[in-house]
Amino acid sequence: MSAEKQRPQVPMVMYEPHPERYREPSAPELGQDGGYEYPSPPPYSYRETTIVEEPVYLVPQPPIIVAGIFSSKPTSTICPSCRQHITTQVTYRLGKLSYLLCTSLCMVGCCFGCCFVPLFIKIFKDADHYCPYCQFHIYRYKRL
Ligand SMILES: [Zn+2]
Repeated sequence: MSAEKQRPQVPMVMYEPHPERYREPSAPELGQDGGYEYPSPPPYSYRETTIVEEPVYLVPQPPIIVAGIFSSKPTSTICPSCRQHITTQVTYRLGKLSYLLCTSLCMVGCCFGCCFVPLFIKIFKDADHYCPYCQFHIYRYKRL
């Protein structure tokens, strides 16, 4: 049983009509001169060229315009980084208005601690809006 199966019933004959055709006609004959032993370009070099040309995925993503954030309060918008619909996390930081009020109060005469009050009041501070998912800094609301 197994001996009959091992016998090849259909002879596999590969017809190669002209294998010389696959060679480039401009290929120099090596060995004639003897001195030049540079590696000849392989006949399948065109395949390497195909592999080198990697498809560059330049997906034309439309830029997300962050709109609607004109306050220091958490705002619902679309994150430009992770592209999710989010409500921004707001972090308050000292801005120009805080320092300006502090300097103004100090010049007026409130030099005994009152001038530092604007540094601790939120409504005088700038607001940084962050994405709650990817912590991407989306927008900075400046008082001045
Ligand atoms: Zn995000």
